[in-house]
Amino acid sequence: MSKIILIAGPSGVGKGTIEKELFKDPALNLSFSISATTRPKRVNEIEGEHYFFVSKEKFEKLIEENAFLEYNKHFDNYYGTLMSEIETKLNQNKNVLVEVETNGAVNIINKLKKEKKENILISIFIDPPSLKELERRIRKRNTDTEYQIKKRLKRAKEEMLCKSYFQYIVKNDNIDITIDKIKSIIVDK
Ligand code: 5GP
Repeated sequence: MSKIILIAGPSGVGKGTIEKELFKDPALNLSFSISATTRPKRVNEIEGEHYFFVSKEKFEKLIEENAFLEYNKHFDNYYGTLMSEIETKLNQNKNVLVEVETNGAVNIINKLKKEKKENILISIFIDPPSLKELERRIRKRNTDTEYQIKKRLKRAKEEMLCKSYFQYIVKNDNIDITIDKIKSIIVDK
């Protein structure tokens, strides 16, 4: 049976690298759930591949139409998981990878639990080895100001409080081992 593979974890924990590797493995039969967002498109991003980039008005119309499995405001922009994305991909017999920030992920977990649809969900929280190591990784990326780094670390602490909602918590000490662990979680389920 096709599953929703929900992946969350603090910014800087390595989600991007992990997901890139997961998509290279045909045995996982993965498809990406493309979210809608009101955040401006970055130069390297493609409409309909990374996100559906929409206006605030359009996003709010989609909220009214109940188009979202969940949505949230994150750093002043809306982000939402479209029900249509999930349904289309599950109907194609694909496992659908959903990567959202932690509050959105907890909303999905609670919603599917309430609807007694937990059997279609695999929820995985990627845990940093420690907050010190997470800080080192964020600083190494060299993309953030000191203010942004502090904000990310504060948020990481909050996100880590939610990890017990997830079926699996994988500590990312070593990226290759982490990827193997996640692959076996998906394949064995
Ligand atoms: P970025 O702007 O860097 O692409 O993403 C910022 C954050 O938004 C990331 O933590 C990402 O996982 C999260 N995000 C992406 N899509 C969604 C979504 O549909 N819903 C929620 N709640 N968060 C999302």
